[in-house]
Amino acid sequence: MTVRSSASTPRVTTAALTRTAATTSPPVTAPAAPLKKGDAGPKVKQLQDALVKLGYLTKEAAASGPGTYGVKTEAAVKKFQTDKKLSVDGAYGAKTQAALAKALSGTTPTTPPTKFTKPAVISAPSPNYDERNGTAIDAIILHHTASNDGKADLSWLRNPQSKVSANYMIDRDGKVYQLVSDEKRAWHAGVSELRGVPTDMNARSIGIEIVNDGSGKTAFTEAQYKSITQLVGYLKQEYKVPMENILGHKDVAVPKGRKDDPASNFDWKRVRSGITKPS
Ligand SMILES: [Zn+2]
Repeated sequence: MTVRSSASTPRVTTAALTRTAATTSPPVTAPAAPLKKGDAGPKVKQLQDALVKLGYLTKEAAASGPGTYGVKTEAAVKKFQTDKKLSVDGAYGAKTQAALAKALSGTTPTTPPTKFTKPAVISAPSPNYDERNGTAIDAIILHHTASNDGKADLSWLRNPQSKVSANYMIDRDGKVYQLVSDEKRAWHAGVSELRGVPTDMNARSIGIEIVNDGSGKTAFTEAQYKSITQLVGYLKQEYKVPMENILGHKDVAVPKGRKDDPASNFDWKRVRSGITKPS
């Protein structure tokens, strides 16, 4: 779906403006198996890059022994195997390789050519952002605004005093506002982790606020689902974001339970199936 601009809306920008080399990184793929503790070399480095991308290994840990399969890499592999219900031996065998490749799906060089186009966005710049400092985008975080008043939400997200923002806001009518360009670090996730590993989620993710009061009783609108699907589908494709890194604020907020968005009635299944194929 495309959001039409009306006379009352400001300029509409295009996807081209947000494409920069700074946020595009080489594809991360699963290396050939087997690998085990004590191994070293570029394949181990490739495995570590994949584990960092999926949140199982911190960048710092990967950098401390680049290309060497040590205790930290082994621990990360074990955690991954536990999550994937594989036998947990800490070694990178064929089954772990297959699971890793699947988890990274959308990140392989065999990704089909562009299918989703960026929805038209209404430019509504917010001053509440800073730099990603070279961190590549590999996650998308969805929020609800905790109100049904898109106009007020937009104003708050653009108010320098609020110190909060998101890259995008999707109003009740499905209109998509761009508040912070993709290459900048919007302030939406706060203290955060990815699958239990502390991380600067704002630096590595695109934040999307959806106008909804979060009561669990207010339906997300059809127009919102259409826009969300197109926007997230586009961003996933553009930045090669693994499906597993498309999450809600509640999934990454620290401490656990600090946030509950998006609300319980948000239809994740619909969005996840929608972004596997263009509408
Ligand atoms: Zn939130």
